[in-house]
Amino acid sequence: MTENKIPYKIYLEESEMPQAWYNVRADMPIKPAPLLNPATGEPCTAEDLGHVFCDELVKQELDDTTRYIPIPQEIRDFYKMYRPSPLVRAYCLEEKLGTPAKIYYKFEGNNTSGSHKLNSAIAQAYYAKNQGLRGVTTETGAGQWGTALAMACGYLGLDCKVYMVKCSYEQKPFRREVMRTYGASVTPSPSPTTEVGRKILAENPDTTGSLGCAISEAVEAATTNEGYRYVLGSVLNQVLLHQSVIGMETKIALDKYGVVPDMIIGCAGGGSNLGGLISPFMGEKLRGERDYEFIAVEPASCPSLTRGVYAYDFCDTGKVCPLAKMYTLGSGFIPSANHAGGLRYHGMSPVLSELYHEGLMEARSVEQTKVFEAAEYFARVEGILPAPESSHAIRVAIDEALKCKETGEEKTILFGLTGTGYFDLYAYQKFNDGQMGDYIPTDEELQASFNKLPKVGK
Ligand SMILES: *Cc1c(COP(=O)(O)O)cnc(C)c1O
Repeated sequence: MTENKIPYKIYLEESEMPQAWYNVRADMPIKPAPLLNPATGEPCTAEDLGHVFCDELVKQELDDTTRYIPIPQEIRDFYKMYRPSPLVRAYCLEEKLGTPAKIYYKFEGNNTSGSHKLNSAIAQAYYAKNQGLRGVTTETGAGQWGTALAMACGYLGLDCKVYMVKCSYEQKPFRREVMRTYGASVTPSPSPTTEVGRKILAENPDTTGSLGCAISEAVEAATTNEGYRYVLGSVLNQVLLHQSVIGMETKIALDKYGVVPDMIIGCAGGGSNLGGLISPFMGEKLRGERDYEFIAVEPASCPSLTRGVYAYDFCDTGKVCPLAKMYTLGSGFIPSANHAGGLRYHGMSPVLSELYHEGLMEARSVEQTKVFEAAEYFARVEGILPAPESSHAIRVAIDEALKCKETGEEKTILFGLTGTGYFDLYAYQKFNDGQMGDYIPTDEELQASFNKLPKVGK
């Protein structure tokens, strides 16, 4: 098929939709390091994890060998309400940039929660429901994960308790109302409702909260309430597995037209969308079938891959979760208050950390004013108002397309457009008013945080 036959949007028939998730760990010769039990320093067993997560998800978390894991019919039915997500050939952007590059993006903002997080939320809620649980607890930062989980739980009739980072709770009241509309309860974190929350508040009464701290509260709420388990929207192996639906759909759609990307770009917070998007392509690379360039994009104010260390660390500030080996800035690291662009987690998925460590993936950090410039440009050219997180990927996709303009290379660039920015207009306002600054942590600040890393599993 010739190039000009490629439509603006590539659709999949229902019958072409993925029937299984792809587990990239199965093709990794060196597996991601196991989670460690913080009490013993030994690898977590299924029993350890079973206190926190539901059983089927524990199996998925620990499964490094099964290549394809079937997507249960109920989840596929739910996916049909908003999937396949559009794969767009960015003809308008290409033309405006005057680049010979061919640009594609996979748009995950096409559902009410506004991001890719719904792909894992429905899976996690489904397995909790199947196990006969009453409900789930979680944290949410910017609010996309909480909203996605609230939608999934609302659909399945599960109770949903969300601990929302306090500054977001105050800055994004509409997010909160969406969650409540879907039936979730939303508590600003740190809160006096948990022991860990009370402790953090006693030490630092004016804190505006952090993701790590909200995780600690949600885990405590799950382990102290009968019939509840904790669910997490990123970082974990199981979440990358569920998000592989993004990459599978993309690959099926591109294969239909014989399109092979040279470069695949995604923003990286905890690594779930990027991990999901690249998984099937990375599988080909790992099996020696094809080569691709993968680029993770992170904020310069929270640069876990580009400036972090690869070490065991706590996943949460309260140090109640298992330890994960990952690129990390230290579990006490909190990005500068002026950082508005999301992707503020201190660590990175152990799967992506290992792939990056082996040189199979690159990483770049970008400053938020440059990210919002790209966001605004994209909104005006392609029409979609992107989430600040997604705009990190847009920034690098545009930069790469402009390089092609200089060199004349006709590269095919694929990027993940993870969501929409309707709830991020406070950040856009700062940008539009010229009041957005950049902040890059100093080496000394990072070192102070590294000094507090746990001394285990070296
Ligand atoms: C949560 C989120 C991200 C970052 O999370 P990952 O786990 O790194 O994918 C990126 N974009 C949007 C829109 C999000 O909601």
